Amino acid sequence: MRQSQAFLHTLRDDPSDAEVVSHRLLARAGFIQKLAAGVYSYAPAMTRVLQRVSQIVREEMNRAGAQEVLLPILQPKEIWEESGRWERYQKGGQLFSLTDHKGAEMCLVPTAEEAVTTLVKRSIASYRQLPVNLYQIHTKFRDEIRPRFGLMRGREFIMKDAYSFDADEAGLRESYAKMRVAYQRIFERCGLKFTIVQADAGAIGGSTTEEFMVNADTGEDTILVCDGCNYAANVEKAESKLPAGETGGEPKPMHLEATPGDKSCEQLSKRFSLAVSRMIKTVLFRAVYAEREETVAVLMRGDLDVNEVKVANALGALAVDLADDVRVRAATGAEPGFAGPVGIKPGVKVLGDLSIQGMTNFLCGANKTDYHLLDVNFGRDVAMPEVRDLRKSKGGEGCPKCASGKLGETRGIEVGHIFQLGTKYSKAMSALFADDQQVQKPFVMGCYGIGVSRVAAAAVEQNHDKDGIVWPAPIAPWQVHVICVNPEDASQREAAERCERELEAAGFDVLHDDRVKVSPGVKFKDADLVGLPVRVVAGRDAKDGVVELKVRRTGAMAKVKLDAVTAEVKARLGA
Ligand code: ATP
Ligand code: MG
Repeated sequence: MRQSQAFLHTLRDDPSDAEVVSHRLLARAGFIQKLAAGVYSYAPAMTRVLQRVSQIVREEMNRAGAQEVLLPILQPKEIWEESGRWERYQKGGQLFSLTDHKGAEMCLVPTAEEAVTTLVKRSIASYRQLPVNLYQIHTKFRDEIRPRFGLMRGREFIMKDAYSFDADEAGLRESYAKMRVAYQRIFERCGLKFTIVQADAGAIGGSTTEEFMVNADTGEDTILVCDGCNYAANVEKAESKLPAGETGGEPKPMHLEATPGDKSCEQLSKRFSLAVSRMIKTVLFRAVYAEREETVAVLMRGDLDVNEVKVANALGALAVDLADDVRVRAATGAEPGFAGPVGIKPGVKVLGDLSIQGMTNFLCGANKTDYHLLDVNFGRDVAMPEVRDLRKSKGGEGCPKCASGKLGETRGIEVGHIFQLGTKYSKAMSALFADDQQVQKPFVMGCYGIGVSRVAAAAVEQNHDKDGIVWPAPIAPWQVHVICVNPEDASQREAAERCERELEAAGFDVLHDDRVKVSPGVKFKDADLVGLPVRVVAGRDAKDGVVELKVRRTGAMAKVKLDAVTAEVKARLGA
């Protein structure tokens, strides 16, 4: 590709709304252009990257026995009512829905369980036709509350979504294991460093689910990884050994103490010279269900934090968020900061974390503005609530799986998610097959997503420097950047053209910067920004049959004879 002809237009400045590196660099390098919040046009260079990622995905999915389909992205409301997701997604506010000219309601799909289940149930009647795994690489729509970070969290984006259908749980586990291997191969082949973590199954609950995280400091997800074994989990899901706390000793009489203005455990710790682990904090939430809302009080040892995802799962709630001041006052009869289990208003659901078990003589809020209770004891002063693991695990805590490992905290970008769904959709949509005894049974399903456009952005988050993108070779838009310093000089022009020709003949994709009247400085700056793995510069030495090779990632340079260019490029690309 000649750069003088290429639709590749770098910008001088960063876009003003770019919060993360990948957004900034992809926009400045002319790969993407914003059309609306979370909606982007992909320029040819970006399209090439997406095609490369898609091709790797496609090859590995096919290798694992999945078959490619294309399902409609415009879908009728009916199938979404069948699965029970229409109302829930409408309520969540993330479903793009519309009405056609006849008044029928439709949506633009966020995922395709309904469509694929419909396709399969109308086609497959017997266990003999199972298992099947169907996948597509297609556009998805989600009206994200905060579309941001460019391609990382778009409202329109490209996803590879696969769906497996098996006759039983054992079959599902096999299908899932195959996808897990395929995903590892995919991200390895893309040249990305990643971590597989246990993930939260959300409202579906119980099932096995894992996420593939591209390791990057800028990732939105926090992950905890054991230094002693292979345990790794999203913080939403992570468990850990309970950190030791101070003990309270034999029960003493409970007493009320004035604590004017003291709302935090730290302030109270100072006032009473009491370890924070001797306190119970009462965190109030609003829990949202399909038909109702309720106030929930979570009791947590003072030095520990609440994991809202675990709370939502324990409740079976659609969502959980911190109670606002009005809700706090209604639940406690006091200003925020003084909530406690003793005398909390009836109707408030109380849940305890495992950490409160065995605590004696603890401090907690008195449900009275500017007062706390001391030497409180469960069973005597207040009933012991139902306890669950509701704690947010942190880096530095002990691994829940092995004896001596410690959890380290890092960040990641979720690029893939695999999920043992079970029969949730097949039951709801009456998607049945006849087993070997002629008994009608629901398909046992799995679903497997990869954010193809997010993978491209994550690759940039993980691979860049101050000058621009450093594409991993397997997904770079072109592998080699031939730069002709001065195309008006015949020897330079001929050398560059020869390199382009020979490298293309050897199977490489080449971008050839043949622009005239563009300064070498601008060419090199653009090349750094666009970030192709290997650069071949035809400059002053071209008259002696010599060009310069530079590896984008390391900056390593070498002078190379024209005859040796192809071999030397091959060596550098590991091809
Ligand atoms: P997130 O937690 O980041 O919102 P999710 O868990 O809702 O993602 P899934 O439903 O698991 O996403 O979708 C499968 C994959 O699609 C994700 O692993 C991610 O790579 C990608 N993806 C999801 N939402 C977006 C988005 N708004 N923009 C780009 N890619 C996305
Ligand atoms: Mg996910």
